[in-house]
Amino acid sequence: MLSDLSFEEIKFYVKHMGLPEFRGEQIFDAIYSGKSLQEVSNLPKAIKDILCKDYPNYAIEKVYESKDGTKKYIIKYSDRNIVECVLMKYKYGYTLCVSTQVGCRMGCKFCASTLHGLARNLSAGEILGQVLLVNRDIGGSRKNRMITNIVLMGSGEPLDNFDNVTKFIDLVSASKGLNISQRNISLSTCGLVNQIYKLMEKNYNITLTISLHATTDEKRKEIMPIANKFTIDEIVKACREYYQKTKRRIYFEYTLIKSVNDSLDDVKRLAKLLKGLNCHVNVIPLNVVKERTLKGSSRLEAYKFADMLKSNGISATVRRTMGEDIAGACGQLRNQIIESTTK
Ligand code: SAH
Repeated sequence: MLSDLSFEEIKFYVKHMGLPEFRGEQIFDAIYSGKSLQEVSNLPKAIKDILCKDYPNYAIEKVYESKDGTKKYIIKYSDRNIVECVLMKYKYGYTLCVSTQVGCRMGCKFCASTLHGLARNLSAGEILGQVLLVNRDIGGSRKNRMITNIVLMGSGEPLDNFDNVTKFIDLVSASKGLNISQRNISLSTCGLVNQIYKLMEKNYNITLTISLHATTDEKRKEIMPIANKFTIDEIVKACREYYQKTKRRIYFEYTLIKSVNDSLDDVKRLAKLLKGLNCHVNVIPLNVVKERTLKGSSRLEAYKFADMLKSNGISATVRRTMGEDIAGACGQLRNQIIESTTK
């Protein structure tokens, strides 16, 4: 698919297809404007006929808008698979949370994305498609980019789809492409330690975010199967090396689950684990998923937890929850749609 290709690769493709060179720029512009092939007006039908099997045919299937302005998009791909992405408006611009896989195979107990397992990986161009389509939907184009920040925190485990995800980062941050600064891109992982080392080699300026959610391996194993493969100590060691190499502050996500990971002992252990690492902890009250039995701590408890972390020397804030009225947590909406269409 053409959105998998960089500008240079598109130029090569155009040459290979026997088309004049200037068509390369037009095709690239059309793709980056998020237009479907039918909507492109400056390409003759004969060229469209040549392009049609390679031109992306993903589309926005549905948009849900929350009272707080957050928008959730359902994107449909050519094989009818759907994913979600979420647009959040902040003072500085728009952040888009993208999905990296259709479903997920990590099996975290609190997460809706993994309930149906992994359907398939998304290609780099399919992940990019989410950005291009939403950018267009809010009035942007290739030259007038409206989306300023990207978080790889939608459905899927980005480091379980390493090659496509890193290619996506290359494409979306390319100056000829959307030119989104790598400093404005966050990649969130449940902690695939071997892949974190591989990511380090890329020397990106992106922010690495770790979904930690527990302070002992025993507890982590109860809620995150990946903990059977990598210990918390191994994750934190990789983070320390990641910081040494990139000088990028590490972020930790800590979803508070009632009576599971929200004790004073957890605060103390977490502070000890992260001591001396340039990091920040985002405390997130659990977004309750109806298929799951785990209960969230209250917002007040989240503030208390963050305050205690701070008094133990760790930078921490409570994450704002957005879009709760539109099934905000990743994967929730896709599950609702799958259920309603399979009934
Ligand atoms: N697989 C990656 C990225 C996708 S999940 C990862 O694990 O980081 C993005 C974030 O949402 C993770 O921190 C994940 O733990 C969190 N999350 C998933 N379900 C949640 C829920 N129901 N409530 C709160 N946070 C949730």
